[in-house]
Formats: sequence, C-alpha cells, structure tokens
Amino acid sequence: MVILNKGSKLYSILFNLCPKCHEGRFWKTNNPFKNILLKNSESSISCETCLIKYELEIGFWYGAMYISYAIGVALMLFLWGVLSFFFPLMDVLLLISLVVIGILIFSPINYHISRLIWINIFIKYQPKD
Ligand SMILES: [Zn+2]
Repeated sequence: MVILNKGSKLYSILFNLCPKCHEGRFWKTNNPFKNILLKNSESSISCETCLIKYELEIGFWYGAMYISYAIGVALMLFLWGVLSFFFPLMDVLLLISLVVIGILIFSPINYHISRLIWINIFIKYQPKD
C-alpha cells in the first residue's frame, strides 16, 4: 500500500516514528498503555537517528490537545452510535457511562497518537541520503 510506505505521514503516525527521518522512535515505547503505566509518558526529546528536537517551541504540545479533542469527540460519537444501534432500549445513564469508560480506556492511545499527528503537521519527511 502506497499510503503506508515510508515517506507517508501515516507511516510515521502508525509506527511511532520520527516525522523527519522515519527511522528513530518518537515515543520511547510503542505501547501507549505501557507509557502511562510506567509514568514514562513523555515522548523522546529528540530523534536518536536524525537528532531533530521534537518540541519545536515552548508549549508546542498544547496544540496536540486539539487533535486529542477531535479524536475524543469522534470516538464518543462512534461509541454512542454503535451502542444505540445495537441496544436501542439501553438506559441513557448506562449509555453515557459506557461511552465515558470507552473514552477513558482509549485515552492512552489518543494521547499517544495525537502528538504524533500534531508533529507530523509541522515536520516533513526528509530521507537521509
Ligand atoms: Zn529522526
């Protein structure tokens, strides 16, 4: 698939790779849950391969919250839609609780992927020659 080849932004986002060289890791571990459980929730400071500093400016990561918010809302709507489609008579409070639980369970993945999306907006792939 062309869209998942090295050089595409999706490749960097899905495989936790540096947005510039697509070789070094962005997060220290590929597992978002491990990141949170080990309280190791910071991304690497810089790429070990191309040495680019990930935090482009002070407060850069605040922007990732917009991405995270959009993913959270999309997930909420998706869960709401799926649950009310399959269980049309479900109590609204139970429905809300299940949606909140779903968002909480997904939140480490959301945090993980939103920073990757955010930095990929600003940094282009530049293969090392
Ligand atoms: Zn790199």
